[in-house]
Amino acid sequence: MSAKRKVLTYTLIMLIPAALIFVLSVLLIGIFLMYGADIELMLADTVYISAPPVIRIIVVWAVIAIPIVIISAVFISNYMSKKLLLPLENLSKGVEQMKKGDLTYEFVGSDDSELRALCASFEGLRLQLQKNVRKTLQKENEQKMLLANISHDIRTPVTSIKGYVEGIRDGIADTPEKRDHYLRTIYLKAEAIEQMAENLSIYSKLELGRVQYSRKKLDIFAMLKGIAEEFSLDLQTANIEQTVEITDEPAFVMADSEKMRRVFANIITNAIKYKKPGKGSLAIKGELTPNGVLISFSDSGIGINEKELPHIFDGFYRGDPSRNSKIEGNGLGLSISRRIVSDHGGKIWAKSEGGKGTEMLIILPVIKES
Ligand code: ADP
Repeated sequence: MSAKRKVLTYTLIMLIPAALIFVLSVLLIGIFLMYGADIELMLADTVYISAPPVIRIIVVWAVIAIPIVIISAVFISNYMSKKLLLPLENLSKGVEQMKKGDLTYEFVGSDDSELRALCASFEGLRLQLQKNVRKTLQKENEQKMLLANISHDIRTPVTSIKGYVEGIRDGIADTPEKRDHYLRTIYLKAEAIEQMAENLSIYSKLELGRVQYSRKKLDIFAMLKGIAEEFSLDLQTANIEQTVEITDEPAFVMADSEKMRRVFANIITNAIKYKKPGKGSLAIKGELTPNGVLISFSDSGIGINEKELPHIFDGFYRGDPSRNSKIEGNGLGLSISRRIVSDHGGKIWAKSEGGKGTEMLIILPVIKES
């Protein structure tokens, strides 16, 4: 019911007692005019008879009218409180709960359309607040995890560097070969820390939106071919056969070449890190589709199981096999890649079946040749 109609209805309801009183007064005056003498005879025994006729009419009128007014007032106030006050009370109760931080109070509708709309707005607000609180808690949790992960990832290589230095100092590395092996390991561990610090720095800059992209028009296929070439020796050393199927046509995108290189390098490095023992393969493909440039990397590695697949692009997420093995990493590579690709207006996703290899796919918007 619209507000205008409602006001009209309430006004009409309020007019009912007045109308009743008016009708009764007219009736009473009529009756007194017609049967005044008989009535006076009927009431002859009472004290009332001693009063003048006008007062008598007023008294009879009042005796009938007052109960009508009271009954109508009770009825109207009941009706109003059911229709308006109760839902308003519920609303204010809910707001009070929200102020105390309890977001579980549901703002249920009322049969009144305006109040129902108001309740719906409050319910929307409550659900939005609940969502924000959940997000904040999740962020807080992620930050706690981040701190725990950073300290773990730093402590592990530092502990082993200390162990190897002690080995050299205490003379355990007593041959030139052993010393050489210890020093190489120290160097690799230091490199891992450096890599982690760099990843952390770029990850937090991306999270804070503080990364400056220097975008230029570049032929992404030419760049991809260059990277495939660059990694061919690493892949060969890892016993991975590389195949490259990239369209000869150029495909121009507006991109920061250094950041895109980081994305491709991370995916190829993962194909090496997560390979199965023995000979492996990596197929790099690039083609132009109506939706943009589609790039894919299919490896024959250990794969990612269904449970882990939705999380591999989350910051610090490491799959079970990688966490439990000696494979270096801190779970930042793919989350950095996802952010870079989405900042370029693209999308990155993965397809995999545990034990059957992984396919990483990237789609990027092309710029039309003019
Ligand atoms: P990191 O390699 O440092 O652990 P990433 O963000 O690059 O971190 O990858 C996250 C997780 O995704 C890895 O820990 C691993 O479990 C899984 N993963 C990524 N790429 C592959 C792949 N090619 N094959 C199997 N698992 C992969």
